[in-house]
Amino acid sequence: MFDEKSWKAQASPLLKLEDDIWQLRLPLPYALDHVNVYLIQGDSGWSIVDTGLNISKARALWESAFAELKIGPNDVEKIVVTHVHPDHFGMAGWLQERFSSAGELVPVIVSAEDHGMFIKIWDGLKSSDSQAMENMTRFLILNGIPAEYAKAVTQGTMSTGVKTFPHPTFTPIKPNGTIKMGNRTWDVIHAPGHADGQIIFYDPADRLFLSGDQILMKITPNIGYWGDTEPGVLQRYLDSLAQLRTYNVRIGYPGHKWLVGDWQQRIDEMFAHHDERLDTTYEAVKSNAGITADGVSQAVFRLGELNYHQSRFAIAETLAHLDLLEGQGKIGREEVDGVWRFSTVGDSAI
Ligand SMILES: [Zn+2]
Repeated sequence: MFDEKSWKAQASPLLKLEDDIWQLRLPLPYALDHVNVYLIQGDSGWSIVDTGLNISKARALWESAFAELKIGPNDVEKIVVTHVHPDHFGMAGWLQERFSSAGELVPVIVSAEDHGMFIKIWDGLKSSDSQAMENMTRFLILNGIPAEYAKAVTQGTMSTGVKTFPHPTFTPIKPNGTIKMGNRTWDVIHAPGHADGQIIFYDPADRLFLSGDQILMKITPNIGYWGDTEPGVLQRYLDSLAQLRTYNVRIGYPGHKWLVGDWQQRIDEMFAHHDERLDTTYEAVKSNAGITADGVSQAVFRLGELNYHQSRFAIAETLAHLDLLEGQGKIGREEVDGVWRFSTVGDSAI
């Protein structure tokens, strides 16, 4: 399970990883077509880490996993969400309802910071004229996306958002300290960048990492600079990678793709990826003074081939790199007629 071939050959979506830990692979209707969630068995009940998107195929897979592992209606102790992206928290409400008995809610644990993000973005999705959606459209226009197209991209976000209903009642926690899941005590580690409130979990006794979307094989997590992101998001991610590289890890259990065998090596590859991306981003700005983030995305990602769901991620990812280069004083931005235009320092945009 440490390479693409054996991962693709895996027959069942439910995989036993340790005596007490199982992975369930759930489908997603996107180019990234699955998410990994985890079930941890303990004397006082099961813990679930991440949940999937609330679609019928995923509900059916959860049900067969519960049947196979003989998880009864009162057997789930807690549900933990690494970060509030739809593919990770989307079924938390459904699971909470399914396992809560009268008067006693199974806790759905999330970091306080990501809980704030949930309220800001996803909780407001119930109405189509939500402020979050309006902000998203404005943000896309600012980055060079024509208004008509921007609305369609925002619409795509809406259709993802509804696959997170019903929403759970969350229990926010601080992104540090320890948490009991199963019979293991895990260090809670704040891992910003992909989601600034993401928390991931390390079991020092067994050198296991439940690494969320922070460390992934083959793909790199989207590091997005969105309308409401604090500047420096890519730097926060790179700082987190440097911190995570110091851990002694036997296996990483990630949110997507296959297991992480060589932790340090994978982190080095991810550093190299971002170095290279910073270079291509800088080159795109250097050869096109006044270019928009969309323009850079076109150059870097060939955006025309991406669908709506992916294009906003491409723009946010591009902006994260532009923002870091700007922070280093290598490029500058100015707003011209409601659109951000980037140039290398010393060049004029117009
Ligand atoms: Zn994810």
